Amino acid sequence: MTKPALTLLGALTFAAFTVAAHAEQVLNLYSARHYQTDEALYTNFTKATGIKINRIDGKEDELFERIRREGPASPADVFLTVDAARLQIAEDAGLFAPVNSRVLSAAIPAQFRDPNNHWFGFSYRARVIAYNKAKIKPADIDNITDLAAPRFKGKLCVRSGGHVYNRTLVASLIYNLGEDKTRDWLDGVVANLAREPKGGDTDQIRAVAAGECDLALTNNYYYARLLASTKPEDQDVVSKVGIVFPDQKTTGAHVNISGGGMLKYAPNKAAAVKFLEYLASPEAQAYFANGNNEYPVVPGVKINNPQLEAMGKFKADRLGADILAKYTPKAQRFIDRAGWK
Ligand code: FE
Repeated sequence: MTKPALTLLGALTFAAFTVAAHAEQVLNLYSARHYQTDEALYTNFTKATGIKINRIDGKEDELFERIRREGPASPADVFLTVDAARLQIAEDAGLFAPVNSRVLSAAIPAQFRDPNNHWFGFSYRARVIAYNKAKIKPADIDNITDLAAPRFKGKLCVRSGGHVYNRTLVASLIYNLGEDKTRDWLDGVVANLAREPKGGDTDQIRAVAAGECDLALTNNYYYARLLASTKPEDQDVVSKVGIVFPDQKTTGAHVNISGGGMLKYAPNKAAAVKFLEYLASPEAQAYFANGNNEYPVVPGVKINNPQLEAMGKFKADRLGADILAKYTPKAQRFIDRAGWK
């Protein structure tokens, strides 16, 4: 190689390096989380690292489609979404790059992350039973299987069977109870419906309070939000409705995650890894979980959340998020077969 060529190469390398160094100062985040307390989390990250966050908010499936459409030209570095199966679908579509970080694998229990390090859970939420305090004794609904018992015919409110919260719950049942018992459970649930599935989890809790049904399924944070609400109508709802964490003597209550991963075509990979590691820090964990009344995945993180405290401690199912994701397609077939719309 002649000397001028070397110099040129040196100049090019230097130019590439400065571009890279400059590019590390931003992080492009595609987020399906829209909680106000997450703002503080992002501000603190920028304060600690000097990396500015450009955030694009959207619905889970829209953001997924957008990343897919943008392909190699996508500016997205990190995708945050909800539900283990959605994270796995993104992985199956080849959207994520593996992040082999000792910080992440040390902080996040294996249950809450992809074994190949393509995605990581940062908080988890429990699927709980909401019940009308005047009509139901909590001891009668110890287990999720109780919801299918003939004694509750016409008493149950649930959102659509195909919603990820229910679908992933059914995936856990396939693993924990086996296929036959899960099919029976689904038939029982459909037979017990008080009305056609409609609305979100909060609507089911409200329907219990209104006497439309005695029992409902909900994620814990929807109940926590009502607990925290100062609106008289919400206070009225929580005065009439209690919650039970099911399966405490057996598997533990089904839990699902909110999480994310670094994207394959991330232009700012170093910043992306720093951000994911930051999300697993005790400070971020507390914000991340408190913001939506979820639970931090990192054990021992102190949270300050009166609603979660009021709801009490519980045993969570230890089933891996990757296993949940794996059984989800079958869960959907079973749900369709049972006619849970
Ligand atoms: Fe939700």
